[in-house]
Amino acid sequence: MQRILVVDDDRNILGAIKRIAGRQYDVLIAGNGDTALSILGDRGDICAIISDMRMHGMSGIEFLERAKKIAPHVPRIMLTGYIDAEVLTDAINRASVYHFLKKPIESPRLLGILDECVELVSRAKAADPNAPDDQKIADALKDANPGEEFSLLYQPRVCSISGQTKSVEALMRWNSPVLGPVSPAVFIPAAEKSGDIAWITDWALVTACRAWAKWRDTAGASMSVSVNISPVLFKDARLVDTVSQAIDMSGIEPECLELEITEGLELNQRNTVIETIAGIKTLGVRLSLDDFGTGFASFSYLQSLDVDCLKVDRSFVSNATSNPTDGAILRTVQQLGKRLGVKTVAEGIEDMEHADFVRSLGYDEMQGYHFSKPIPADELTAWMQMRPASAA
Ligand code: C2E
Ligand code: MG
Ligand code: MG
Repeated sequence: MQRILVVDDDRNILGAIKRIAGRQYDVLIAGNGDTALSILGDRGDICAIISDMRMHGMSGIEFLERAKKIAPHVPRIMLTGYIDAEVLTDAINRASVYHFLKKPIESPRLLGILDECVELVSRAKAADPNAPDDQKIADALKDANPGEEFSLLYQPRVCSISGQTKSVEALMRWNSPVLGPVSPAVFIPAAEKSGDIAWITDWALVTACRAWAKWRDTAGASMSVSVNISPVLFKDARLVDTVSQAIDMSGIEPECLELEITEGLELNQRNTVIETIAGIKTLGVRLSLDDFGTGFASFSYLQSLDVDCLKVDRSFVSNATSNPTDGAILRTVQQLGKRLGVKTVAEGIEDMEHADFVRSLGYDEMQGYHFSKPIPADELTAWMQMRPASAA
């Protein structure tokens, strides 16, 4: 039987959850955050955590934030009596809350959410059991020849209103002669640990900027290009020189280069990070915050990062049309972007319904398989020419 952990001091709620989920799930109960954290630390078999917002001792958000550190792969669900934009933003930013469950609890909704959690956890566990370990990746990276083994694919980002291609995101692919094709989700974290990420990023920056120059020269294309940069590189001011060199070597207009950073920037490195960001902004390069909603950024932190764009994580888009709470989260992120005066982009647009919904919320741009999968540089101009101008 799958196990869930419920944290609440309200007997009525605990009773309701046990009644609804008790037949299918082993429901572990904790009356406060401290007890729940120790249960979580002891057991590796929990597939969902449900927590009330208000509890004695520590708040629901604080508890879920700490739970995320102990067991990041276990989806977190927050019980709420009402949906408030500020609370939602805080819960998403600090604790990456996966779902919000409104009181009184409705049986089909709770069971539906728990089904999704089981699926998520089993997918995380099953994800590529044969994936090479970090050491094998580091060894293969040491001998890697970037020109032969690495390539960049580009995924278009289009204006929600006009359908025009505004930007393309460079996404790295590695076909190692030793390990075969390795996903960036696997080799980037390993390269961050081994330190190889620095030269890999140099290569990606120069390659993407040169591709931009070629699109401009051959097709007169005017969109920008974005490159993903690992948070670890922001701890070192040399990133500014690397970016500056890529601009010089390729002739890209700095304002057409965008760097995507995730919320994983370590807050205790804040000063160096802010200095590096300031150096990059001085070059005229733009910054966007990727996978927004999955990290810890607070409103004031966002302001000090001085980003130009928020890219909301695709996990919020996938359920938004069928789930009012996820829809509310998407709306909140768009409003937050507006308050900050930055562009908002929705990732993971897979069908027309996603596109219509995201457009109705006021997102500036969209990206996803509905428009195009990531494609090689030389296919991009053909893709743009084939596309009707108003196909948003
Ligand atoms: P990301 O930057 O958030 O990139 C978006 C990912 O979502 C890409 O996966 C893309 O192929 C995928 N995607 C795009 N549209 C859809 C859609 O409609 N549905 C679904 N299900 N997925 C979609 P990819 O290429 O496997 O990259 C995964 C992650 O690896 C990236 O996430 C990024 O964090 C990292 N990454 C990729 N290239 C680089 C790089 O050059 N440097 C660094 N530091 N990280 C990179
Ligand atoms: Mg990205
Ligand atoms: Mg992303």
